[in-house]
Amino acid sequence: MLQGGCLCGAVRFAGRGKPTGVTVCHCSICARWSGSPAITVEFEQGITFEGDVTWFRSSEWGERGFCPACGSTLFFRLTEGDYINVGAGFCDKAPAVPIITLEIHVDAQPGYYAFAGGAPRLTGEEFLARLESGKA
Ligand SMILES: [Zn+2]
Ligand SMILES: [Zn+2]
Repeated sequence: MLQGGCLCGAVRFAGRGKPTGVTVCHCSICARWSGSPAITVEFEQGITFEGDVTWFRSSEWGERGFCPACGSTLFFRLTEGDYINVGAGFCDKAPAVPIITLEIHVDAQPGYYAFAGGAPRLTGEEFLARLESGKA
């Protein structure tokens, strides 16, 4: 079981089931949230966590959880349903998945960085269409 936690250790989490992929999100909300593109991991049966997490509603459909003691930008979850992911760097050891499995919101990607690897790259519109068709 893959576990992890925030910088100060007050929040700990465990992935339930296997990690299903590592996603890079280039959207402007993720950039403001952590100062860089989000690199997140999700698990077959979600994530359990313990400790005090503060939730910030960042959009109509999503909210972000951080540690109020050290500020680590741990989680993103949908307000409806049980989808949740965690920043890959918060895991105690690297998730055993191939390098970056998906890049999303590539239309918002600034020009000053790029990731290696041949992962599918979806625009915001393409990603939303995929969510609506239930394949995300
Ligand atoms: Zn903390
Ligand atoms: Zn994003």
